[in-house]
Amino acid sequence: MVMRNPLAYQICTNCVMDTTDSKITFGAEGVCDHCLTFRRQILPQWHTDERGRRELEKIVAKIRKSAGGRDFDCIIGMSGGIDSSYLTYIAKAELGLRPLVFHVDAGWNSQEAVNNIEKLVDKLGLDLYTEVIDWEEMRDLQLAFFKSGVPHIDTPQDHAFFATMYKFAEKHDIKYILTGANLSTECVRNPLEWMYYQTDSIQMLDIHRQFGTVPLTKFPVTSILRHKIYLPYVKRIRVVRPLNYVPYTKETAIRLLVERFGWQPYPQKHFESRFTRFYEGYWLYKKFGYDTRRVQYSSLILTRQMTRAEALEKLKSPPLDEETIRQEFEYVATKLGISVAQLEEYMRAPNRTYRDYKSQENVYALGAAVMRLLGLELGGKR
Ligand SMILES: [Zn+2]
Repeated sequence: MVMRNPLAYQICTNCVMDTTDSKITFGAEGVCDHCLTFRRQILPQWHTDERGRRELEKIVAKIRKSAGGRDFDCIIGMSGGIDSSYLTYIAKAELGLRPLVFHVDAGWNSQEAVNNIEKLVDKLGLDLYTEVIDWEEMRDLQLAFFKSGVPHIDTPQDHAFFATMYKFAEKHDIKYILTGANLSTECVRNPLEWMYYQTDSIQMLDIHRQFGTVPLTKFPVTSILRHKIYLPYVKRIRVVRPLNYVPYTKETAIRLLVERFGWQPYPQKHFESRFTRFYEGYWLYKKFGYDTRRVQYSSLILTRQMTRAEALEKLKSPPLDEETIRQEFEYVATKLGISVAQLEEYMRAPNRTYRDYKSQENVYALGAAVMRLLGLELGGKR
């Protein structure tokens, strides 16, 4: 590994990850460790041809069998974004599964997301279950994250999604959860310092203990031991990522969804939630200098869905234009029940990291090392 001056700016010669990811390292010819992980660890084990299809068929057989006499054989976590929408189509139309479409409404759905979910569910003849998160608690937890100064303020929303879905599966004895997580568009992961583990309840609750104002009594909380050990190994609830076994490219998926379902595309990944759009498109970018498009585009470059030149061109302009930012800033402040001036104050306050609060980082690091050793997880955060 080549040593580098920690203050010098450097960008990978193969993808568009750069030193805004402070842990990035560069090897021969300036290729970064994200690219090397992809080439050495992910690519050799990622099969979307016949081999992947056969593996998927085996899993599908198990899923069908697990249903017993129930109406559903699995649940699909649906955000209305491209990955979960395409997954829903594949699961029903191509794999012949009987999924219950599961949606968590944390208060920030975009109108497009709502329309997309309805269209898919309708045309595929599926059932939709929507769990609504208690808004007072959600709002209080989100405000606590703003006050804490950490970059990962998307945690309350993501945590609620995970926790609610697992809870539902456990309660109704459903053994399989399908998610749209995939290597094709997500093989490069957000660095830990940009987005700390959203499932770390110790961190989330510590931040809420310090900055929250109402007790969390209804907000769904999960823990690493619960969803990494108890639910998969004791209750045998498994998470399957079907998009990793089939050819999946963003462009083709969007075209199919638009043509068959009248699905409405989003200008950027994760923009189905208005909060995430504000967070990734403005807050993280402006306050911390972290541009999640680098991660998304780098994934697309590695999987040959975008050229590096095209990515560099797009990165020249900010993710959101001035007018949208102004509107969204006001929307977010109003929705959270604070003034624009207050939100601006949070923006100017000193930046913190996940290390400034209690966490289970060590448990996650150990877990990830074990999973990689057993070959159960490819890549991972670092
Ligand atoms: Zn790279």
